[in-house]
Amino acid sequence: MSKYKENIKCSFCGKDKRDSLMLIAGIDGHICESCVEQAYDIINEELKTTKKGTSKKESLGSLPTNITPAEIKAFLDQYVIGQTDAKKYLSVAVYNHYKRLNNNIDSDVEIEKSNIILVGETGTGKTLLAKTIAKFLEVPFAIVDATVFTEAGYVGEDVESMLSRLLQACDFNVEAAQKGIVYIDEIDKIARKNDNPSITRDVSGEGVQQALLKLLEGTDVNVPPHGGRKHPEQKMIKVDTSNILFICGGAFAGIEKVISKRLNAQVIGFNSDEKEHIDRENMLQYITHQDLRHYGMIPELIGRLPVLTYLEPLDKDTLLAILTEPKNALMKQYSRLFELEGIKLIFDKEAINLVADKALEYKLGARGLRSLCEAILTDAMFELPSQKDIKEFVVDKIYVEDKLNKSAIRKLIAA
Ligand code: ADP
Repeated sequence: MSKYKENIKCSFCGKDKRDSLMLIAGIDGHICESCVEQAYDIINEELKTTKKGTSKKESLGSLPTNITPAEIKAFLDQYVIGQTDAKKYLSVAVYNHYKRLNNNIDSDVEIEKSNIILVGETGTGKTLLAKTIAKFLEVPFAIVDATVFTEAGYVGEDVESMLSRLLQACDFNVEAAQKGIVYIDEIDKIARKNDNPSITRDVSGEGVQQALLKLLEGTDVNVPPHGGRKHPEQKMIKVDTSNILFICGGAFAGIEKVISKRLNAQVIGFNSDEKEHIDRENMLQYITHQDLRHYGMIPELIGRLPVLTYLEPLDKDTLLAILTEPKNALMKQYSRLFELEGIKLIFDKEAINLVADKALEYKLGARGLRSLCEAILTDAMFELPSQKDIKEFVVDKIYVEDKLNKSAIRKLIAA
């Protein structure tokens, strides 16, 4: 018996038991630790390539061919509250964009790209809309901030680096990236410093807009794979931007006044009835491309963003709905977190109302809802996991007031 044991060898490499750390026995053979390690590496390598293969296939094959704008809007409705006009414009623009992409038949009529510009206060859902559209289409998506860009050769990032993010989002699958969506935030902050073209250099303004213009129109760009500035020694990846959909967003602070002024000028001379038709509460609905020029955007760039729409400021009802209704609403997320601890979270109506009131009072918008909820629930989330007998946790108005009074949010706002 002992003689037999001494003769055991790895059935894969033939290594003797005495030369290996361990031999694992199977039904009809043995395997040593180095063969296990090697097999593990082979499997990993194989999985990596097949995963890449499927993700490539999925993201490329997923451009929908038979969806309707109404279906796109219905999808957006699941995640974004209100903003009906923006959703409609966006759905049609995206529908047309991908129709143009899917239509390879030769024709004299070339359909132009429908790049989009969204105007609305911060925290009203511009980024969320763009992100949700990308989720629906299953195309690569990147968010970039226009303020970090400077004209090539100056401190800051080159405009092309926004495509590095897109490439990174799809594991450097160039073909997929070329059908992706880029959301450029704070587009109103790259304005030319004054309305007259100047002879001095305007590093962050017009130069950037000119560079951006080319990307928006569609061109071949050499992209540094890891973003940042171009280094001569860095290997570049060529990306064609003709089919990339650009969605730009900006708050354009004070634009209501610009619109109002224009409308007043237009209605002078007409009878007073005309003036009354203007809904002064929501001036954004009358926005036109012309109004954007007051923010130093060059006309060519404005022209490359043919679809213009707006997002309404959020009122209390909308904030309440944002807290409870979307598919991944904050209240649903916290309930789930508590549920995972075996605790039922009950946020009563008055408490939810107070959260919405505070978000309005502190002018935090929807973005602040999360910070408020964190301030209210952090103590509970810290303490409850060590109190095994608690099955239910009720948050009422008094609890909310107490936690917010003690929280740093209040101090920050006061400062
Ligand atoms: P913006 O890009 O306009 O500054 P975001 O889209 O980043 O604003 O919104 C910040 C957060 O606020 C989002 O992640 C989302 O949770 C919430 N939010 C804002 N607007 C809405 C909305 N209309 N519906 C649902 N959630 C919203």
